[in-house]
Amino acid sequence: MLSSPIPVAVLGATGSVGQRFISLLDHHPWFKVVALAASDRSVGQKYADATRWILDTPMPDYARDMIIVPASTESVQAKIVFSALHNEIAKDLEPQFAQAGMAVCSNASSYRRGEDVPLLLPEVNAEHIHLVTQQRQNKNWSGCIITNPNCTSTGLTVALKALDDAFGVRKVFAVSLQALSGAGYPGVSSLDIMDNVIPNVGNGGEEEKVEWEPRKMLGKLHAGTIELAEMRFSVHTNRVAVIDGHTVCASVELAHPADPETAEAILRAYSAPASARELPSSPRPVIEVREEADRPQPRLDRLTGNGMTTVVGRVRRDPILDLKFVVLSHNTIRGAAGASIYNAELLVNEGLL
Ligand code: NAP
Repeated sequence: MLSSPIPVAVLGATGSVGQRFISLLDHHPWFKVVALAASDRSVGQKYADATRWILDTPMPDYARDMIIVPASTESVQAKIVFSALHNEIAKDLEPQFAQAGMAVCSNASSYRRGEDVPLLLPEVNAEHIHLVTQQRQNKNWSGCIITNPNCTSTGLTVALKALDDAFGVRKVFAVSLQALSGAGYPGVSSLDIMDNVIPNVGNGGEEEKVEWEPRKMLGKLHAGTIELAEMRFSVHTNRVAVIDGHTVCASVELAHPADPETAEAILRAYSAPASARELPSSPRPVIEVREEADRPQPRLDRLTGNGMTTVVGRVRRDPILDLKFVVLSHNTIRGAAGASIYNAELLVNEGLL
């Protein structure tokens, strides 16, 4: 418990991920929201008036009457800035906040590939947070930019980490079934998605992200740089008519093949590194393994562990590679807003704010 709350702001507060931030930061034990920023469309309005609230929990009272400000360093004074901005805007604005001394915890992909930018899932690669020291030296700023991965990489990477530690993962073949909230609000037109599956997410680029981001997170930090994991990926990404919760069906080749029962036990027993275990947003458990033949399902399982737990099921032999399984992760909680908040908690816990 901190003696006084840390002031935080949300950029892109009215959108799909922004609303999750507003909801998850309500009564947060360490953070107090002091500013909400969005586009010119919303600036000057009360949050409740500017936002078409799409969550199934009520809009928190603290946010309703806050006046939306521009996403600029003049208008936002906070220690931590949670960014739910689109990539092009984030690319321009996030360094300005880091330069002004604020820690930017970003959902955008603009800086995920930066050599001195942590791409973090604390339960997987908490030690990568120390790249911020390198970043501060390189950029000569007192703030920092830390990122969380694409929402489809998230659950897959958590499961791969457990399997890689135990058996060594060599190859991954994966197919995603991605929820609509991943496309933002209003997102995909109803006439496009009802009665349909769209085999292309985000106008391209999504598959390359899921083929690359896990390699950075599963890579080793040596002398201020990350050596990418030697793992080969082939990924298909699809948009489906689910509101929240991304499903990924994966097959893996292992260096030391394991039977499904052993793999299940390893997945179930996986725990986060010590520094990431007892934070307010730590997933409890990190991985839940379902035994039923028809689980995980988005509607039934996405809120496991308050939406922070990765749910794995259908662990079985793969006739070509070694194992196959299904992973489910809540895309706007573990895959977006909850991810950035967990990253910020790790930053504070490591004394790096
Ligand atoms: P969204 O629903 O379209 O929301 C975009 C937000 O950005 C809105 O609050 C919008 O404000 C604001 N905005 C637009 N232009 C702006 C500007 N020039 N200056 C300041 N604010 C501006 O998008 P989203 O789905 O929340 O995604 C946000 C980011 O998170 C994206 O980079 C996305 O790739 C990433 N992400 C999303 C998910 C997911 O599951 N949705 C998961 C992982 C990562 P107005 O309402 O005022 O226009």
